[in-house]
Amino acid sequence: MKCKKLLTLITAATLCLSGCSGISRHAQANQDLSYTDMLFDTVIKIQILDSADQNILNGLKKLCQKYDTMFSTTNEDSDLYKLNHAGGAPVTVSDETADLIHEGIHYSELSNGAFDITIEPVSSLWDFKSESPEVPSSEAIAEAVSHVDYTGISLDGNTVSLADPNAGIDLGAIAKGYIADQVKTYLKSQGVRHAIINLGGNVDVIGTKLDGSKYNIGIQKPFDETGEAITSVKLKDQTVVTSGIYERYFKKDGKLYHHILDPKTGYPCDNNLYSVSIITDSSTEADALSTTCFLLGYEKGMKLINEMNGVEAIFITDDEEVHRSKGI
Ligand code: ADP
Ligand code: MG
Repeated sequence: MKCKKLLTLITAATLCLSGCSGISRHAQANQDLSYTDMLFDTVIKIQILDSADQNILNGLKKLCQKYDTMFSTTNEDSDLYKLNHAGGAPVTVSDETADLIHEGIHYSELSNGAFDITIEPVSSLWDFKSESPEVPSSEAIAEAVSHVDYTGISLDGNTVSLADPNAGIDLGAIAKGYIADQVKTYLKSQGVRHAIINLGGNVDVIGTKLDGSKYNIGIQKPFDETGEAITSVKLKDQTVVTSGIYERYFKKDGKLYHHILDPKTGYPCDNNLYSVSIITDSSTEADALSTTCFLLGYEKGMKLINEMNGVEAIFITDDEEVHRSKGI
């Protein structure tokens, strides 16, 4: 994805913080205690609003870089790279990778395979970041689709194996949420009580703003390059994660191709949604559910959220209508 688009995401997600927050002088003086980086294929920004030790930033950097490697499918040192190139042999992975695969299987089951973490053979065919992106051949897509099946994953403690030697795991749909949760736990353990964690539009907040009011986080207007918000949500110690077709895409011969892929066809999921945002306590859950609900479509996705406790959603359909779940 182009950097401009990434920055738009960041701007949109935090738009109302500077626009409508009334942050105090004291808070603004502390705004330099932030960590910005280009990780997880996106721009990340973590802002600590209360007084905190500068050393926390070093800890943050180490933590984020560790996960950047751990959950990459292309870094040869990563658990996932080793697993995806093991030809079906068992591979020992870190506690965190095992945890995340376990979560991924849960959402794959919940959606009956609409969400499927073994999408890797298909997702690795598509390059949404390329300067001159191409649609993969239909033969290559059909071949890749035949290896997608989460029921072939065996997870026993930290040992993982894939029944199909050509299968592969891609945790891209949930890793950022998981990392946001880990960052939040780390910052809290360091005594931080007010912070905004923004991993490419995946926003998780600690506490409230310094004046005790909730954070007002903008939800981006689909395809708006200026980062304008279509609506916003008020958060205290919660997270909001959006999956949308405007986040990573390219156009070819007038057709838009985006990065949320239908495991049955191998092509971008085709429905009437622009985006789904999930608001809840756990960012892992929000990230998993935003992609899952997108793949389930408006009706089934909204039904799923309305049956859950403590989880809310905002669906934006392609007529730019904003649909909210029952609790918000
Ligand atoms: P983003 O990564 O932009 O925040 P998402 O959380 O919606 O967006 O995740 C999209 C990513 O999930 C894709 O880039 C790919 O790595 C992965 N993915 C794509 N389709 C599926 C699918 N059907 N099931 C599980 N993961 C998927
Ligand atoms: Mg997701």
